[in-house]
Amino acid sequence: MVNLTIDGKAVSVAEGTSILDAAKSVGINIPTLCYWKGLNEVGACRVCVVEVEGKKRLPAACNTAVEEGMVVRTNSKKVREARKYNVELILSEHFCHCTTCVRSGNCKLQKLANDLNILEIPYEYHYAEDRYSKTFPLNRLDSRCVKCMRCIQMCEKQACNIWDLVNTGSRATVGLSDSYTLEESNCALCGQCITHCPVGALIERDDTEKVVDALNDPEKITIVQIAPSIRTAWGEPFGLSADKATVERLCSALKIMGFNYVFDTNFTADLTIMEEGSEFLERLTKNEGKLPLFTSCCPGWVRFVKSHYPEFVDNLSTAKSPQQMFGAVAKSYYAEILGVDPSKIFSVSIMPCLAKKHECAIPAMNDACGDPDVDVVLTTREVDRLIRAEQIDPCKIEDVALDMPLGIGSGAGNIFGATGGVMEAALRSAYYLVTGSNPDPDAFKDVRGQKGWKESTFDINGTTVRVAVANGLGNADKLLKAIKAGEVEYDFVEIMACPGGCVGGGGQPIHEQCEMAPERAPVLYDQDKNMTLRFSHENPSIKAIYEDYLGKPLSEKSHHLLHTDHHAWKMPNEE
Ligand code: SF4
Ligand code: SF4
Ligand code: SF4
Repeated sequence: MVNLTIDGKAVSVAEGTSILDAAKSVGINIPTLCYWKGLNEVGACRVCVVEVEGKKRLPAACNTAVEEGMVVRTNSKKVREARKYNVELILSEHFCHCTTCVRSGNCKLQKLANDLNILEIPYEYHYAEDRYSKTFPLNRLDSRCVKCMRCIQMCEKQACNIWDLVNTGSRATVGLSDSYTLEESNCALCGQCITHCPVGALIERDDTEKVVDALNDPEKITIVQIAPSIRTAWGEPFGLSADKATVERLCSALKIMGFNYVFDTNFTADLTIMEEGSEFLERLTKNEGKLPLFTSCCPGWVRFVKSHYPEFVDNLSTAKSPQQMFGAVAKSYYAEILGVDPSKIFSVSIMPCLAKKHECAIPAMNDACGDPDVDVVLTTREVDRLIRAEQIDPCKIEDVALDMPLGIGSGAGNIFGATGGVMEAALRSAYYLVTGSNPDPDAFKDVRGQKGWKESTFDINGTTVRVAVANGLGNADKLLKAIKAGEVEYDFVEIMACPGGCVGGGGQPIHEQCEMAPERAPVLYDQDKNMTLRFSHENPSIKAIYEDYLGKPLSEKSHHLLHTDHHAWKMPNEE
């Protein structure tokens, strides 16, 4: 242990502890900006400077280790002046138009400037020009970048390395590492750089106006689907607890906005299980197609495989993501139920995800009627902005039931939003398809939890199935390398690009210094536990769509509407 004094308090902490953590251990808060524990501890912004007796220079508390006998002052006049000066300099290079920033009210720099009582900037403004395209799902606003480098670290953790420090000296800034534009890069569109940016310098493309236009078009029938993970997060900015931020309350808000039909992506999560589970059994028992089978419901992961490991593309399940299955079903099966021309349907999805904004625009995703199966994808953050723009107070509205028949999903579909959920749901139904009877719904719970790479084996009617589950692309990268090197062998692999799966998705509400997946995932599992319908194959609407329309899993019609060829489009650097 190391003994020191911080602001007059005696502190004893383990060797190697930073001054920042040592101060925190005795309830002393040192402000930070670029710091993110375990990810970015570089002291770049110099907001966390402190005074150490006997030292002339003010060290950054986040990356300076405690020393025996140290006397630290975290809020002396010298420290306060230096901190204020550093923030003023940052502000002079930041486009401080907070009123038109998506992060207004949820911005670390805005809060810091307020906390430090900065009321004017005594320096000339010099901010960079915004030069990135506004049409790509991910947009960078250089004018708002504070060069904290969190995005560089996060993207490296995601094994994509899109961002880097560019230029030198006073011109040093953060930019693309080795491509000319974001469109030409191998960005997986996981959105994790957005959720880890302390300011509004990384944002998703805003698609809310397209939805508002459709809602105001009397010729359009507006249909919206809500992804499983949305129910764990949409209420957070409104202060709604998870039990109050129900999917039915969100349905109510969407109906007030004017949507004609509100449905549940859990329904097509169940449909995905029927198709992907059947495909897995075919590959396993009939030797048809490559093993291990990789799940394909995460378009961030699909983009990663195509750009980084093209040799594994044929291992991806041909099943479309639940979002795209829903779009195809809405403009075919449901259009027939309504008796309308599918081109009149405007199909919106609410997703935790940026990659799905790209996915819906893939030209091949138009199987229902030739138009895009999904017209617009809104992130959770965008739908929350729409709710606010409509002056809806979600705390004061009543729950409204989702529409039928596409508004019903099983507990298995519900847990798709958390890492391991797709695998668990698939195994529940694969067991049934092989044995004709249901397993204990919790029989496959070994694949739950936040660990980056999990593996397990299960016995299904005498056959041993070897499975692996990874979340976060850095873990996916390690797993693929191990498969390539012959170090591991699996039959079925689930990968979600975002840490913790979609609950930690790049389109979810942002909380400073907080990875939210560990808090959000249990919400989905609790909901699953309390549902009577816990198997995809028992969903009555799934039974109905097969009986009335698709025939059976992997039928010709199912193949046409619910499966895709991953070679039908290319990543910029794909051969
Ligand atoms: S874009 Fe955001 S996370 Fe990246 S360096 Fe700039 S401020 Fe930091
Ligand atoms: S979206 Fe993901 S892959 Fe793309 S730049 Fe950001 S962190 Fe990297
Ligand atoms: S994990 Fe979910 S939110 Fe993240 S990229 Fe994949 S589908 Fe999108």
